[in-house]
Amino acid sequence: MSVLVLGGAGYIGSHAVYKLMDSGEDVIIVDNLETGHKEALHPEATFYQGDIRKIDFLRTVFKNESIESVIHFAANSLVGESMEKPLKYFDNNVYGTQVLLQVMAEENVKHIVFSSTAAVYGEPETVPILETEKTKPLNPYGETKLTMEKMCHWASKAHGTKYVSLRYFNVAGARESGEIGEDHRPETHLIPIILEAALGKRSHVTIFGNDYDTPDGTCIRDYVHVEDLIDAHILALQYLRDGGNSDVFNIGSNQGFSVKEMINTAREVTGKGIVAKNGERRVGDPSTLVASSEKAKKVLGWDPTKTYSKKIVEDAWKWHSAHPYGYDKEGIKE
Ligand code: UDP
Repeated sequence: MSVLVLGGAGYIGSHAVYKLMDSGEDVIIVDNLETGHKEALHPEATFYQGDIRKIDFLRTVFKNESIESVIHFAANSLVGESMEKPLKYFDNNVYGTQVLLQVMAEENVKHIVFSSTAAVYGEPETVPILETEKTKPLNPYGETKLTMEKMCHWASKAHGTKYVSLRYFNVAGARESGEIGEDHRPETHLIPIILEAALGKRSHVTIFGNDYDTPDGTCIRDYVHVEDLIDAHILALQYLRDGGNSDVFNIGSNQGFSVKEMINTAREVTGKGIVAKNGERRVGDPSTLVASSEKAKKVLGWDPTKTYSKKIVEDAWKWHSAHPYGYDKEGIKE
């Protein structure tokens, strides 16, 4: 029996595949390679290139393979882009998940773990955020993830598909051994952007707003190490296999760092004088997102060991400094 990883060539999906294979699982990957990289595919996993919105393609994968559970990362995930192209997000994230749940129901596959986001909360009323906080997304990305959760809830009632939704806070870092890491085109995430500035690939980092109601005026986020995040998925899978009920968990560090603090950490780790300039606020950004992950610790037994800012930046720097062009060699896409 296999675990089907949708989006297994992407940043988070590829880290999941490597860890699942480390733990002895048989893994099937589906990815349309729109944002993923073929170089990030695990060489020993079975790979199908295709789009989850194509129901016949997905049915073929389920027919060919003996799939016991699904981990679903195949989604668009950029807040800024989602404000400009909301329908792209509803199509890929919501409709893609609808097709997936349909095929899972047809094939009687009962377990799904999928990525949700802190963006479902919008601007939270209480920090650290509990899973019981009101969900009021400020951007289409968060709205589509919330819709995916609701769809899973109703599919679970009708078809008995048990799900775990993991609401990620800010995922960063890279696999400790350094074979895979983060490579988005274009890059929009804070830590890789800071490290690109450290590498001299950018002249500076623009701080998106320094007039927020936070101690230093810059946005506060909760950064979680990608390898700890993947452990949460593996534990969630085990929880479902052990008969756990469908549920939602925050995955973060319970600690917030401002944009300026993260730039300072990167200056320490890299030893580079990274230039930062103040810019306008980015539309759709809440000021502060910090998780309470007590529920994941208590119910799933999640025990993050790498989730602290220095380790996250160190592992990310190991990847970026060894692969300044990401998965391309010397800036040439293979
Ligand atoms: N950010 C910034 N400059 C950048 C990229 C991001 O100041 O070039 C800020 C952004 O406004 C947010 C934080 O860094 O407060 C994290 O942003 P990112 O895009 O990494 O993740 P998000 O919070 O959108 O999931």
